[in-house]
Amino acid sequence: MSVKRVTVLGATGSVGQSTLSVIAHANAEAASADEPPVFEVEALAAGQDVQTLSKQAIAAGAKLAIIADETKYADLQARLAGTGIETAAGDGALAEAAARPCERVVAAIVGVAGLRSTLAAVQAGNDVALANKESMVCAGALLSEAAAASGAQIVPMDSEHSAIFQVLHGRDDLEKLIVTASGGPFLDTPISELGDMTAEQARAHPRWSMGLKISIDSSTLMNKALEVIEAAYLFDVPGEQIDVVVHPQSIVHSLVSYRDGSVLAQLGEPDMRTPVAFALSWPDRRIRTAVNRLDLAALSRLDFRAVDDEKFPAIALAKQALAAGGTAPLILNCANEAAVAAFILGKCGFLDISSIVRDTMEDMSHSGFGSNKPTCLEEINAVIAEAQRVSDRLLAKV
Ligand code: NDP
Ligand code: MG
Repeated sequence: MSVKRVTVLGATGSVGQSTLSVIAHANAEAASADEPPVFEVEALAAGQDVQTLSKQAIAAGAKLAIIADETKYADLQARLAGTGIETAAGDGALAEAAARPCERVVAAIVGVAGLRSTLAAVQAGNDVALANKESMVCAGALLSEAAAASGAQIVPMDSEHSAIFQVLHGRDDLEKLIVTASGGPFLDTPISELGDMTAEQARAHPRWSMGLKISIDSSTLMNKALEVIEAAYLFDVPGEQIDVVVHPQSIVHSLVSYRDGSVLAQLGEPDMRTPVAFALSWPDRRIRTAVNRLDLAALSRLDFRAVDDEKFPAIALAKQALAAGGTAPLILNCANEAAVAAFILGKCGFLDISSIVRDTMEDMSHSGFGSNKPTCLEEINAVIAEAQRVSDRLLAKV
């Protein structure tokens, strides 16, 4: 098997680090079997963290390291001087790196900030391992059309979508996609106490160890809301055919039900290295990981329950955005990014997050936004700017 060149965008984050550990493990196994390396790292990119990025680039033998924040460029150059590793800075350089020929681009930047590079990779015909769900939520149609035009495959890395991708066999016989949700840290917190919850409490996810933004999204169930939209675009399935079920153990990563009554699921420990390995290895399943194996007897039971929509309105908002179509999912995402950033800074309360999202969507639909499908990045950027302006105005009132 020839070596696979991999570029990791968002290398310094939680998914980026899991990716580099899967790559290092696979290459170490190959070396101990006297085989050639499985992966070669083409480029690594981060937002600001030059210290981690430069260490990673040296350890992985990357050819190129890119930092999005141009004010950090001199520091990156100094840290990598004499290593032979190329360096670059800025969003344009990041998009160019995403388009460099390779076998897999791991899109693991957080938020809509990852959209430009994800789109650049797809347009260049590079197969993308997609963790950056916000880019699919904001520009699902654009990404799918670009993939169809270039022949790029978008392989999901989000655990739920990886599960569905693995058990989905054609759309004709499909009845429902069933996305599982852990329920987050406030699953059993009474609704009367939610308003007082702090960012510190919200980020303490019971099952998964993840970056800050997605951890907060998990506490509001907005992560699941984004995942419903992500699934709708990735698998071309309408919102009405996507259900969410709470499954606190996070062992069943999602399911697909078919018209004969069969339900197929994918199971595993809640460890991102499994969906990462699958997305890197696809279309085969050759990568061995160091992930703990499932011990079903020790686990003994799997629990499921319905989502409490009154306590967690996010999923209903996502279904509403999908039904509205156009830029409604993009507006939902951008309002959420603004509200989560404010919540982390203590500038709004926990329950304000969903209200800001709902009110931004309503406000922008009244002023005529939402109905038209965006056809290019410039149109999307204009809606992002407007959503930011509206949510900032609403946030100033709380
Ligand atoms: P982290 O916050 O841990 O990492 C974010 C990464 O994005 C960092 O490398 C960061 O660089 C980089 N970054 C941030 N802003 C920019 C920018 N403007 N330009 C370029 N790079 C930027 O996030 P996660 O790893 O948790 O999540 C990444 C994505 O994967 C998200 O979309 C999330 O929803 C999704 N995901 C995450 C899972 C998880 O287990 N963590 C599971 C499933 C999906 P720096 O370090 O320099 O700031
Ligand atoms: Mg997920």
